[in-house]
Amino acid sequence: MTQITLQTNKLANFINGEWVEVNEATAVVNPATGETVVQVPLSGSTDVDEAVAAAKKAQKEWALVPAPQRAEVLYQVGYLLKERKERMAQLLTQENGKVIEEARGEVQEGIDMAFYMAGEGRRLFGQTTPAELKDKFAMSQRCPVGVVGIITPWNFPIAIATWKSFPAIVAGNAVVWKPATETPIMAYELAKIFEEAGLPKGVLNVVYGRGSTVGDAMVQHEGIRVISFTGSGDTGRNIASECGKQLKKVSLEMGGKNAIIVMDDADIDLAVEGILWSAFGTSGQRCTACSRVIVHEKVKTSLEERLLAAMEKLSIGNGLDESIKVGPIINQAGMDKINSYMEIGKNEGAKLLAGGYEYTEDVDQGGNYFAPTLFTDVTADMRIAQEEIFGPVVSLIPVKSFEEAIDVNNGVEYGLSSSIYTSDVNRVFKAQRDLDTGIVYVNAGTSGAEIHLPFGGTKGTGNGHRDSGVQALDVFTEWKAIYVDYSGKLQRAQIDVE
Ligand code: NAP
Repeated sequence: MTQITLQTNKLANFINGEWVEVNEATAVVNPATGETVVQVPLSGSTDVDEAVAAAKKAQKEWALVPAPQRAEVLYQVGYLLKERKERMAQLLTQENGKVIEEARGEVQEGIDMAFYMAGEGRRLFGQTTPAELKDKFAMSQRCPVGVVGIITPWNFPIAIATWKSFPAIVAGNAVVWKPATETPIMAYELAKIFEEAGLPKGVLNVVYGRGSTVGDAMVQHEGIRVISFTGSGDTGRNIASECGKQLKKVSLEMGGKNAIIVMDDADIDLAVEGILWSAFGTSGQRCTACSRVIVHEKVKTSLEERLLAAMEKLSIGNGLDESIKVGPIINQAGMDKINSYMEIGKNEGAKLLAGGYEYTEDVDQGGNYFAPTLFTDVTADMRIAQEEIFGPVVSLIPVKSFEEAIDVNNGVEYGLSSSIYTSDVNRVFKAQRDLDTGIVYVNAGTSGAEIHLPFGGTKGTGNGHRDSGVQALDVFTEWKAIYVDYSGKLQRAQIDVE
C-alpha cells in the first residue's frame, strides 16, 4: 500500500492569503487505523472576524475583475487539481476512509466542477427583454452577493466544497469556508492550489474549527450575506432559523432516505449491482446512499438470494488497499448510531439476513468497521425504513404493486434520490413523474450525480436550493433588473403606455 503523507504536522488557517497558526488544535484521526494524520486548528470567533474582514475587502476588487478573467483562475485550479489528483485522493482516503477508487472519483468531481464553472465566466447569462414603453431598454443580470460562508461535512470533503466555492468565486464573491473538523486536509490542499493559481488574497479564506464556534460565528456574522450549508438536518434547521432572523440567504443540503425500487420485470442482476454500489459504497455514508430497497413481492426471494451472494464477496478494510470495496466508518459516534439501529430493527420485527455487527476480522484493530447489513420483511413505517442511519445498512421492503412502491418511496421525510429498475417504458415515465425526489435514476443506483446537473432534494432534504449545475449560481448571485430610458422624457410604466 503506497501512502502519501502531508508535509506538515499541523494545519494553519488561510486568511487574506496568509497561513495563520492557531494555538488550540485537535487530532485528525484516520478511521481505517485510528492513527493521527495531522492536527487541525480549533479557531474562535475572532478568526472568523479576521477572515470576513479580509473577504469583504478583497470582494470589492474581485467583483470588478471581468468574469472571464476570474474564470482563468478556475481553469488553473482545474489543471492543478488534475496534476495532483492521486495525491489528493490518497490524503482523502486517509482523512475520510473512503476507498481509493471513490476518492479518485471525488477529486475528479472537483476537476469537472472547476472546468464547468470556469466556462460560466463567459456565460453568467442574464436576459434582455422588450420594455413596455418606447425608447426604453430592459435587462436583468446576475450580481455577486458579497461575502459568502460555506460550511461543509466530512463525507465529501472536496467535492461539496467545489460545488459551492467555484460558482461563488466565478460570480465575483469572496468566500469564508469552514470545513468539517473531521476532514480538514482537502481544504488545506485546495487553499494551496488557489494560492498557486493566483487567486487574489482574501477571495478564499479557510477557517478551521468546530461548528458550534466557527460555524455559529459565521452564521451570526453580519458581514456574511449567504450561508451555503451541507450536513445534518438538525444543524441545517438551526442555521436556517438563525439566518431567517437576519434575513440572510441560506442554502441547505441535508439528509436522505433513498430507495431503489425493483419491479417484477427488472433485470435482477443489474439491480443487485446497483444496490451493492449505492448501499455499501462509502460504507453507506453518502447523502444519496440507498438504505431502502422496495421490491415487488414476486421477485423478493430471488433478489434476496442474489444480493446475499454478492454481499459475501465484498472486501472490507483500509481503503488505500486497491482490492477493498468497503472502508471504515468515520468515527465511534457513527459506529454507535449504526449499532443502535441493529437493536431498533430487530425490536421492530425486521429479519436480519446478513451483517448487523462490528467487523473485526483481518482489519486494523484501531479502525472502525461495520459489516454490510441486510434487513428484510421491513415495513414502510419502521424506524429503520424512515430514519437516516448513515452506514452500510439496507432494508428490504416488499410491495404488491408499482403504485405501492411509489407511495413507499415518497413516504419519508426526505426527498434526495430515488431509483427504479424496470423494463416497462410506461413505468419509467410514470416513475420519473411521481417520485418525489430531487434526483431520479432509471436502471441505475441512487448515487452517480454529474456536476453539470442540479444536486439537491425536496422536503426535509433541503430548502429548495441546489448545489452544482448552473442552478448553483442562483445561491451566489442576486438578480438585478435594469431599465435604460433613452426617450429623453419621463415615461411612467403601466401609466404612459399607449
Ligand atoms: P453536521 O454534523 O451537521 O456537520 C456539517 C457541518 O456543519 C460541519 O462542518 C460541522 O462542523 C458544521 N456544524 C455543526 N454544528 C454547527 C453549528 N451549530 N453551526 C454551524 N455549523 C455547524 O453533519 P455531518 O454529520 O458532518 O454530515 C452528515 C450529514 O450530511 C448527513 O445527514 C448527510 O446526509 C448530509 N449530507 C447531505 C448532502 C446533500 O447534498 N444533501 C451531501 C453530503 C452529506 P464540525 O463537524 O466541524 O463541528
